Amino acid sequence: MSEPLLKVRDLRKYFPIDSPIPFKRSNQSVKAVDGVSFDVMPGETLGVVGESGCGKSTMARLVNQLIPPSSGTVEFRGENLVGMDAKKLRETRKSIQMVFQDPYASLDPRKTVGELIAEPLVIHRIGDKASQKKRVLELLEVVGLSHYHAKRYPYEFSGGQRQRINIARALVLNPDIIICDEPVSALDVSVQAQVINLLKELQRDYNLTYIFISHDLNVVRYMCDRIAVMYLGKIVEMGTYKEIYENPKHPYTKALLSAIPKESPHDNKERIILKDAVPNPINPPTGCHFHERCPYMMDICSTKIPQLMDTGNGHIASCHLLEEN
Ligand code: SF4
Repeated sequence: MSEPLLKVRDLRKYFPIDSPIPFKRSNQSVKAVDGVSFDVMPGETLGVVGESGCGKSTMARLVNQLIPPSSGTVEFRGENLVGMDAKKLRETRKSIQMVFQDPYASLDPRKTVGELIAEPLVIHRIGDKASQKKRVLELLEVVGLSHYHAKRYPYEFSGGQRQRINIARALVLNPDIIICDEPVSALDVSVQAQVINLLKELQRDYNLTYIFISHDLNVVRYMCDRIAVMYLGKIVEMGTYKEIYENPKHPYTKALLSAIPKESPHDNKERIILKDAVPNPINPPTGCHFHERCPYMMDICSTKIPQLMDTGNGHIASCHLLEEN
């Protein structure tokens, strides 16, 4: 068995809240990511799912060190990125790239597509103008665009084409791992399938590893080998996609799965409607953070935090119901 490419341990990000009283520090914070641990193996796709505000995107930025964590470690190929000196981190980050959600906002409208794709090469001083141009043209082909697109500006492209440009940009430095933060959620359904297929082809051709963040379990199903379900900054369940889809353990995962549209009219699965929205992360509920919305809530749930338990087949989940069995 090979070593994990990425090892994340007890990662936390608490954003301090400004006090309403001038010159007085508030001791409150938003616990955006609260003790998250996982491994990512070379060549696999780890899906991270959960509702908006559950900490998925913050977690992605922490892994890539775009923001510093409050505590915890992020090991890439055995080296901790947290606290790494700036020069070494810059070098290491060539191997960890991101594709962001909004294909419109993530491209500078004043630059041509050729300049945008070549930009990481220019920043890292890799190659001369001719070799950079050659790499741009090669990548345009790889992502299904044409050479003449290099001279055009982002506003001339559709959402799906812009996401292809972002993917080309992410590939230009030959990364090992790409963190895709809701890469298709801003796209039409038909275009979503094309971009997902492209990502899968690239993974096969370039042996890429993905962390694929989405609020949509239906999309994740086609992409991921394993899935982590996040709720209020914590992973509440993680397992192979087969285990998560066929044998979900956590009531939150069951509710997310029940929201996937039925594949046939004979499918008699019941939709689980969750009460209220995700609670305020400044003041999360005591005990199990999910207890105020959980249809199976018991007395213990409001006082004691459930720990992640191994339920077999590489599947872990945190719920007091599992402790009873
Ligand atoms: Fe529901 Fe209790 Fe399990 Fe939390 S610990 S998910 S409240 S049953």
